[in-house]
Amino acid sequence: MANNSNENLLGANQRFINTQTNTKNVKPADLANGQSPHTIIITCADSRVPPELIFDAELGELFVIRVAGNTATDEVIGSAEYAAANLGSSRIIVMGHSACGAVSAAVDAEQTGNPLPSPSLEAVVAPIRNSAKTAINADGENIIEEAINHNVGAAIEMIREKSPIIVGLEKEGKISLSGAKYDLASGQVHFL
Ligand SMILES: [Zn+2]
Repeated sequence: MANNSNENLLGANQRFINTQTNTKNVKPADLANGQSPHTIIITCADSRVPPELIFDAELGELFVIRVAGNTATDEVIGSAEYAAANLGSSRIIVMGHSACGAVSAAVDAEQTGNPLPSPSLEAVVAPIRNSAKTAINADGENIIEEAINHNVGAAIEMIREKSPIIVGLEKEGKISLSGAKYDLASGQVHFL
């Protein structure tokens, strides 16, 4: 049984928060002939959300896939499939973060009806629009944060819908799939 527990990641996150990071001992040459990252992380491109720092990780520990709004596009899913099937990773974590600009843009576009300034920006926001609509319709206290949480769940659903490879590994107990959220102010990761 693979180690699917997220506890060691939370411990590493605590070291980051306490600025008690471990000394990095792995040299580039140590990994020149191969990699075996224990965790695949799909997260936002936001400069304040670097997984290697947040999880106090050594070179080669994390297979990181970043796109604004941490959506599960085909390229993102394909990248995760590669690591899941070939590199022995035992976890996939989709990690959103507080005050995400991409999610805010999707909420704004839904609320105002204004188009995004370019087709490429629209492509970033398009997979988030459904989560934005859901949060707007729920009309809770914080629509943006609700949309961010919903968007993490939507990415996980999309992976399960589109990736028989990952679903197969999950059924065999070889990989776990979970959602998380990073808080920009505290540095804390919470699993959703
Ligand atoms: Zn973001």
